[in-house]
Amino acid sequence: MDILVGKKGEVQCINDEILDKLSLKNRNKFLINNLISILKPEHFNFLKQAQKFYERFEKKNNITHKEDYYDWIPEIGKEGLVSRVNKFDELGLNFKPFGITAEFMRILATDFFDPQLAMGMGASVLVINPLMLHHEGIDIRLRALKELVMGEKVGCCCITEPERGSDAVHMLTTCNEQTDGSFLINGQKIYQTNGPKAHWAIIYACTEENNGNTMGQFLVDTSWEGWNAERVIIPWTPRMFIGKETFTNLKVPNECILGPPGQGREHLFEGLNLERLGIVALNIAEAWNAITHAIIYCNMRKQFDLEILKYQGVGFPLADLWAQTMNLTLAFLHISELIDQKMEQFGRTLPKQFNLALVANASQLKSQSAKLSERVCYECVNLMGGAGACDNTLMQDLLGISRIQEMGGGTRQIQQYIMSLALRQLFKMI
Ligand SMILES: Cc1cc2nc3c(=O)[nH]c(=O)nc-3n(C[C@H](O)[C@H](O)[C@H](O)COP(=O)(O)OP(=O)(O)OC[C@H]3O[C@@H](n4cnc5c(N)ncnc54)[C@H](O)[C@@H]3O)c2cc1C
Repeated sequence: MDILVGKKGEVQCINDEILDKLSLKNRNKFLINNLISILKPEHFNFLKQAQKFYERFEKKNNITHKEDYYDWIPEIGKEGLVSRVNKFDELGLNFKPFGITAEFMRILATDFFDPQLAMGMGASVLVINPLMLHHEGIDIRLRALKELVMGEKVGCCCITEPERGSDAVHMLTTCNEQTDGSFLINGQKIYQTNGPKAHWAIIYACTEENNGNTMGQFLVDTSWEGWNAERVIIPWTPRMFIGKETFTNLKVPNECILGPPGQGREHLFEGLNLERLGIVALNIAEAWNAITHAIIYCNMRKQFDLEILKYQGVGFPLADLWAQTMNLTLAFLHISELIDQKMEQFGRTLPKQFNLALVANASQLKSQSAKLSERVCYECVNLMGGAGACDNTLMQDLLGISRIQEMGGGTRQIQQYIMSLALRQLFKMI
């Protein structure tokens, strides 16, 4: 089902030859050629395999990238492309490779295919990760986990509230224990990616308003009575479904309490590093996607009888953006391979000290990659002229998405605040 008026490219602005060259297959090839000497064989092969899946998927379904992408997620899930962070062996699944580096490859391939899909599926991962850590073998949690990983169902993560954004610890949403051990949740959340489409949600709420020490973490089936989601329109990402949710005596049974009041805050923070690193992977993927479009276009577009890449005003800034994107890719690969190594060494959870040090690294990478993605996407649109601004390619999606990446997962200022605290700690250690 199309959710926007008109098909992509209904009015053709870019000539056939260049449009053909900008195909997913060619853009994928450009990315692979950039990464061939850097990636380990298992990650390189996985990236290629994921790219091939999306190329076939796009062709088979005649995709224009104006569709409701939520319809595609079940088929993508069957291919093991909703999440690669974990092994999922307790679910009887054996997707390989897995880990943060594999997740980076999954995000690269998905973003090249459809940037808004890549971002939307990332919110399901925010439900998958806490369920991995806290399923404790309980049936309903394992069922939710499997349905999310397989793409049969979509997930959303409910932290932000209308009156509590950056100050996420002082929540107003409440959870009250009942005599049968269940909890009633009351309150409102806002800006949840996938909110109106989600079947499973993770909700954070406190027994006492504004008291983070009383926070709990709950798994909720959104078909339960007391859940109501409205769609919030974010014009820069028109195909994503963002929600405003109201909970009215939403009853959560005992088996869905992932963290009882008192443990919720710790559960929220334990997932933040992984969430931010997921956003870093998205930011880098967006930058590569934009650069790839611009490099192909500028190598073919002629003005004054010369390919525009040959003009220093075009080729030199493009070279700088390419270098910055590659540098950040190398930095992220270093940290993701290190995390994978630690995960293998220590099992599923990272050592506490390492995870603590990672907080500053995650903020450094998140803040810089968001800034880079925004600049790269805008500059590439600019270098492509009208061809970048029209709807014939994915550049408009990249431009919109890259403009909100500084906000989600903790705003720019919150990352700066975290980093400044780390600077204080480091100073005290001298
Ligand atoms: C597209 C999109 C998807 C999202 N997805 C989710 C989701 O899936 N789940 C979810 O729970 N939330 C989600 N969010 C919410 C997001 O995490 C919040 O928007 C973000 O945390 C900021 O909260 P806020 O919007 O209320 O802004 P506010 O907290 O009101 O901030 C407004 C401005 O004030 C600044 N500010 C606030 N406090 C300080 C301070 N102490 N020092 C300096 N500056 C400060 C901020 O940096 C910002 O510039 C999403 C948001 C967007 C836009």
